[in-house]
Amino acid sequence: MKSIAIVGAGVGGCTTYLFLKKHLSSHIPDLDIHIYESYPPPPYLSKSHPKSPNAHPKDIEETPNLHSTPTTNLTTAIGGGLGLAPNGIRVLKKLDPEIFSRIKASSHETDVFTLQVSSGRILGNFPAGGKRYGHGTMMIMRATLHDTVLEKVDLKDISFEKKVKNVVDGEDRVKIQFEDGESVEVDFVVGADGVWGKTKEAIPESARVRAEYDGLVGIGAFLDEKTTRRILDEVKDKKNLVLPKSFMTMTFGPGAFFGSWLDMDRVEKSSPKNGILESKDPDHNLPFAGWWSTFPMEPPPTSRTPFAEVKDQVLAKHKEWTPLITALIENSGLDGNREGTFVLPRWITPPMPKWTSNSGRILLAGDAAHCMPPDSGQGVSCAVEDAMTIALLCEDIFTAKTGKELSDQERFKKLCDLYTKLRKPRCEYIVEEARKRGDMKRELGIVEQTIRNVVMWAMCKVMPESAMDAFYSYDVETEVKKALKGEIPAVKGKGKVIAVEQK
Ligand SMILES: Cc1cc2nc3c(=O)[nH]c(=O)nc-3n(C[C@H](O)[C@H](O)[C@H](O)COP(=O)(O)OP(=O)(O)OC[C@H]3O[C@@H](n4cnc5c(N)ncnc54)[C@H](O)[C@@H]3O)c2cc1C
Repeated sequence: MKSIAIVGAGVGGCTTYLFLKKHLSSHIPDLDIHIYESYPPPPYLSKSHPKSPNAHPKDIEETPNLHSTPTTNLTTAIGGGLGLAPNGIRVLKKLDPEIFSRIKASSHETDVFTLQVSSGRILGNFPAGGKRYGHGTMMIMRATLHDTVLEKVDLKDISFEKKVKNVVDGEDRVKIQFEDGESVEVDFVVGADGVWGKTKEAIPESARVRAEYDGLVGIGAFLDEKTTRRILDEVKDKKNLVLPKSFMTMTFGPGAFFGSWLDMDRVEKSSPKNGILESKDPDHNLPFAGWWSTFPMEPPPTSRTPFAEVKDQVLAKHKEWTPLITALIENSGLDGNREGTFVLPRWITPPMPKWTSNSGRILLAGDAAHCMPPDSGQGVSCAVEDAMTIALLCEDIFTAKTGKELSDQERFKKLCDLYTKLRKPRCEYIVEEARKRGDMKRELGIVEQTIRNVVMWAMCKVMPESAMDAFYSYDVETEVKKALKGEIPAVKGKGKVIAVEQK
């Protein structure tokens, strides 16, 4: 194998690149690994990027490491925040301790999510990780996480504004055609191009499976220090004020769900003195609080729908909820622009029959293969698990180890066969579990709501320590080793594989 193309520079594409560099490039020194991304480079990369009008070849040489650039603040929060689960954190730590340190420094780690009902009555704590898994869940801005991995990609190995139009599978090579009329031929393609990706169209069995709107929308905002303090001040005398006991609170009510976080540690640590409202918090630009509301909406808004247009609907959904919740919503997006707010309709891909092409030279990863409901909190973790799996399998199959006696064609087929066996049942199991969690956020009758609340209360009371093992304890290295020895790994948990629904 001489050349690999990765379509898409999201977290999945960047980590696939970094894992392949780590595990394959030392064995195959002339291996070319290149990422093609349809979007322009982020602003902090632009100056040094060849496509930038300001670019100078010297800039590229002088910018070998962009790590120290602070790239994320409230104004780049449009993509929202996400919870990085312990299984994903362990993978990123193995990839690069520096990536891990930066993520740790820019996130808030929590071992539990507090569950409550809309009146503020606590149902219990739901495990988000902890000692058993090495980490809790790290709440981080999507842009920060993305920057952290993108900055590690060598700029000469990535082409921005290079939108893939078509991927054509051949027996010996794969041809990628771009919207600008150019094309390249490579030995192997990883389609990490997300839910709307083009690569899957090269796999005839999966080409017609389309993402579907799941009927729910996620709308939310991040709040700066000043606004957070104003809210706390506003609600402090309210009778039924319930301040969150843990960092992250998940509130279930009639016809809607509300997730919120409040960084009380930072609020308290940087408590303003002598009437000066804003503190000297070193991470002053990062949000102090955030929230997202999930509820059914038809027709779906687009991700470009301004927050102001849907704010009244959000307020109406949470009208009688705790004072903190209504204050969070009312104080969001006050300046009328999109900064710090987001509107994200939820798109989910039904399970696809195949993730790999017949030649074995095209493989799907991340959301391109398994776009899952956000209720799983596993989208990124599964994408980075895919990335590590691809690299470890490639290292074994394409270097001196198990693949020695095989032809190139047989090696690609072996890679795709093992990748599918390892990843497909696990991801489909997680999608199925997440769908069940998502259903709890839909419009429910009074009886169904009561049952849901009792079930959640009981679950929090009796759940064994191992309850989240199926999600959090997955270890990529162990599973890959087992697969290479011919032991077909069992899916943890129920391992239900969903029937394929071809469109
Ligand atoms: C509201 C919401 C909340 C979420 N919360 C969580 C959470 O708490 N925890 C969690 O783990 N996950 C969460 N997720 C899921 C998570 O964001 C995704 O699973 C993850 O970002 C997938 O990464 P990816 O790299 O596979 O795909 P993407 O991030 O979609 O990246 C795909 C890349 O491919 C590029 N691309 C697409 N088409 C082309 C083309 N034709 N040519 C070239 N490039 C192309 C795109 O521009 C993009 O850069 C959430 C998702 C949503 C929507």
